[in-house]
Amino acid sequence: MPSTTPRPAPKASNGALAAARRIEKELVDTRRTIHARPELGFEEKETCKLVTQRLAGMGLKPRVIAGTGVTALIESKTPGKVLMLRADMDALPIVEETGLPFASKNPGKMHACGHDFHTSILLGTARLLVADPPAKGTIKFNFQPAEEGLHGATGMIDAGIMTKPAVDTAFGYHIWQGIPVGRVGVVSGPAMAAVDKFTITIHGVGGHAAYPHQTVDPVVIASQVVTALQSISSRSINPLDSVVVTVASIHGGTAFNIIPPSVEMRGTVRSFSKSVRKEVPKRMAAIVKQLSSAMGGRGELNYVNEDPALVNDPKLAEFFRGVVRDVVGPKALIDAEPSMGGEDMAFYQEKVPGCYIFVGSSPKGTMYPHHHPKFNPDEGVLPIATAVMTEAARRWLAAN
Ligand SMILES: [Zn+2]
Ligand SMILES: [Zn+2]
Repeated sequence: MPSTTPRPAPKASNGALAAARRIEKELVDTRRTIHARPELGFEEKETCKLVTQRLAGMGLKPRVIAGTGVTALIESKTPGKVLMLRADMDALPIVEETGLPFASKNPGKMHACGHDFHTSILLGTARLLVADPPAKGTIKFNFQPAEEGLHGATGMIDAGIMTKPAVDTAFGYHIWQGIPVGRVGVVSGPAMAAVDKFTITIHGVGGHAAYPHQTVDPVVIASQVVTALQSISSRSINPLDSVVVTVASIHGGTAFNIIPPSVEMRGTVRSFSKSVRKEVPKRMAAIVKQLSSAMGGRGELNYVNEDPALVNDPKLAEFFRGVVRDVVGPKALIDAEPSMGGEDMAFYQEKVPGCYIFVGSSPKGTMYPHHHPKFNPDEGVLPIATAVMTEAARRWLAAN
């Protein structure tokens, strides 16, 4: 039955996408320039210089912080809230195999996560917001170094990115393989997992492989420990909570006829809730210690908390859904699933409410995932992400 309720007229926001499409060539050129010169975490000297020069060229006053990070402000005359827009800029230690004309010229380094896109998108967003600034409030740009495991976000926080002026809200984005280009995923609540890492050392007594009774074999103990660790997710944690316990590397021994004195294992734990994050290392320590000693050896666990879980504010997630519908189209929006991957944007969103969205970049043909040597996302994501971030910034500052 047709609804009799009059529908509100759609907000005329497609202007943001049209404006982003007008600078599409610049977005592509910038992405390719950065792609050809990938730099690892805290080494982003050329990228930092490019970002600084571009922002200065727009009439902004960029400032280098945290070594290779860059920040700049757009302040309107009417005071209001401070919104931080963040992009990461670092590359990965991967040998590129795309064969693209703009492939990496820095041997052994590659933009294989899409941070070249992120930097170009935020520069494009700055260009559109300078051309048509928000009516009130302040935009703070955060071009962050070293997202890939080196805590660039905490570097930026220590350098004062959240203060002077104090940030009220933070928005960020990742281009996303697995979501087709033209679509955008928004997750409400926990969106990316807390990342922890561990090293387990099993000490035994080495000896001749033909006389195991004269040794304490750490390989056999390690095998039991790996299996027992899998019981944490299946038997210790509420099945309704998500958790991953992965032993990703195991090393011991040098020859077919020697029982080694020790075995070392390394791996990662991913979780969303704080209580799970607390419980897992307790269970791991008990298994490693007690199982090893029951078998005559000694087990040690070294457990390190890395990034916290990235949690999207539900109201801001709803806000972004509206922006995506209006800017890209009603069919563009995807209720994306949370990811067990980590993201150091979480450090900012621990301090202020924020939202981090996934902008689809999967090309039509073969899709290579993030961190793959043939990673080659669809550049059609560039104007879409730029338009969404620009409109979100304008709309949020106008409404708050
Ligand atoms: Zn990555
Ligand atoms: Zn990334």
